[in-house]
Amino acid sequence: MLSRRDFREADRFYSVLTPTHGKIEFLARGGHKPLAKLTPHLEAVAEVELLLVSGRVFQTVAGVERRRSFPHIFNDLQKLLLAQNSLSLVDLATRPHERDPILYKLILSWLDFIETSASPSDERSAFLLGSFLLKLMAISGYRPELTQCLSCREAIAAGNFYWHALKGGVVCASCVVRDQEQWFSARRIDDATLKLLRFASQESFSNQTRPTLAAEQIVWFHEVLESYLICHFPVIPSVSIRAACISPSLA
Ligand SMILES: [Zn+2]
Repeated sequence: MLSRRDFREADRFYSVLTPTHGKIEFLARGGHKPLAKLTPHLEAVAEVELLLVSGRVFQTVAGVERRRSFPHIFNDLQKLLLAQNSLSLVDLATRPHERDPILYKLILSWLDFIETSASPSDERSAFLLGSFLLKLMAISGYRPELTQCLSCREAIAAGNFYWHALKGGVVCASCVVRDQEQWFSARRIDDATLKLLRFASQESFSNQTRPTLAAEQIVWFHEVLESYLICHFPVIPSVSIRAACISPSLA
């Protein structure tokens, strides 16, 4: 389940991702088929089999069977928060009825990773969500440029580059000097932050527990990500990626 919203008095819309039809939305009626029987299956982070009935206007759910559940995500608030935040990002990044088996596979391996890894700290969670977001953006066609200069296409050299959120990546210092008007809003970021961004976007989920998260870099990491998100994501999330993973009990 990616998201839900209440509809009329007793009904509820659900948005889910399917391997065959992309993102679909359907209605769960609170009337004759008790919603209470279906919702525990619909609202959990799970892989389910759905029986949908096409009506005149909406598709309505007639049955749900759970194929795979993630008990460790269900029982760990920090993991649950991370999973739910990532699924809301998927909801924002996708359009209905666009089949995307690669995205579906990414999400299953991501949930597998959360399910089987140790419970993350708030800070690690926020970094992991950033890593998921970078991979999600790459699949959805919003991959930021992190290795070559956006302007001259030369490989980026250490200590000699700027970040430009609107143009979508890094630019070398000589290009910034050559055309200051074009690049005036480019900002310096340090080598360690760029390294962290590359690592988060390229390495597998299981490797993302390895990098040491220095306070200063993690702030920059999220600033770069969020500036990019605001410029390129189809819908801007209501919560910042950094704040999204702070569990309510600790906030
Ligand atoms: Zn350049």
